[in-house]
Amino acid sequence: MYTAKARAVDGPHQPFHATEIKRRNLDSHDVLIEIKYSGICHSDIHTAHGEWGEVNYPLVPGHEIAGVVSDVGPEVTKYKVGDRVGVGCMVDSCGECENCRRGEEQYCHQGNVQTYGGVDKYGEPTQGGYSTHIVVTEDFVLRIPDNIELDVAAPLLCAGITTYSPLNHWNAGPGKKVAVVGMGGLGHMAVKIAHAMGAEVTVLSRTLNKKEDGLEFGAENYYATSEKETFETLAGSFDLIINTVSAKLDMDAYFSLLNLDGSLVNVGAPAEPLSVNVFSLIGHRRSFAGSLIGGIRETQEMLDFCAEHNIVPKIEVISADQIDEAYTRVLDSDVKYRFVIDVSTI
Ligand code: NAP
Ligand code: ZN
Repeated sequence: MYTAKARAVDGPHQPFHATEIKRRNLDSHDVLIEIKYSGICHSDIHTAHGEWGEVNYPLVPGHEIAGVVSDVGPEVTKYKVGDRVGVGCMVDSCGECENCRRGEEQYCHQGNVQTYGGVDKYGEPTQGGYSTHIVVTEDFVLRIPDNIELDVAAPLLCAGITTYSPLNHWNAGPGKKVAVVGMGGLGHMAVKIAHAMGAEVTVLSRTLNKKEDGLEFGAENYYATSEKETFETLAGSFDLIINTVSAKLDMDAYFSLLNLDGSLVNVGAPAEPLSVNVFSLIGHRRSFAGSLIGGIRETQEMLDFCAEHNIVPKIEVISADQIDEAYTRVLDSDVKYRFVIDVSTI
């Protein structure tokens, strides 16, 4: 067993504290990673606060992990000591079901093993990236391209893939009008990636406060959803809307912005159910869909795409003592645009 230093939370709305956790000995295909940076995703906050259901505390969140391989099991073939690697939201899956076999492990019929808050194949609870080390089977480890620094690589492992995957699946590209609702961690990545894919991107934020940043990230247009005229001006405009908002929205208002056959894809995951008036969909053959992170193969593809197009998140690096403050700031939408923990401070 390895001992890792970590930051854990003992219950909803409790402060983070320093602790030590155990990481398993390396199995034949396991990789030991010395974590350098760990992003703070809004999902960490939903989970730590118990909003999504029961949590096994103490909980060490973190599923935007970037680090360096420091040891490998005897049969590991994909990685060697010193490689720069990442780990995202899942660390294992059954590997045998239809979805796993086609590389969509996030939709594993048995349920994927989440990086934290899950139970691994040894029956042990999983703990995430707010820690100095993690052991992961090599198939769930990603290679970080040389031209992406580790601090900015971390958020790609969740915010990057969660937006890349639906943009890819729903064919964002030249000639497509894509709107991104909410410009936080996921939203700002969606803008950059959709722009790089060649789509015409519009940001729908509550205010115009972040407009300059949005245009710099690659948006052509930027509107405030707090202004009623926005919904009149943009009615029927978009082929695809990616909703990254972490809270309940008036979905019908956003459906009205879709063109014929347009799709609104929710990646935002508020605890509260969203309500839908089906007439908002029926009228223009619109679709309402959801999307969960992305598979391992697609996550590698996203990392390589970001490397090729020089796409990295805009981040604020914090020390481990600032996690509570960072959570408060994320909840206040005072984040530009991702907090990343410098794990050396744990
Ligand atoms: P974030 O950085 O907090 O961004 C969320 C953005 O939503 C905010 O910046 C804000 O944008 C907008 N927003 C927040 N509260 C709002 C409200 N009450 N009404 C309207 N807009 C509001 O969060 P994130 O890390 O990007 O995560 C976003 C959501 O995606 C979370 O629910 C998270 O759990 C979920 N998520 C899902 C997946 C998946 O696989 N599907 C993966 C990761 C995260 P403006 O200031 O621009 O209005
Ligand atoms: Zn996440």
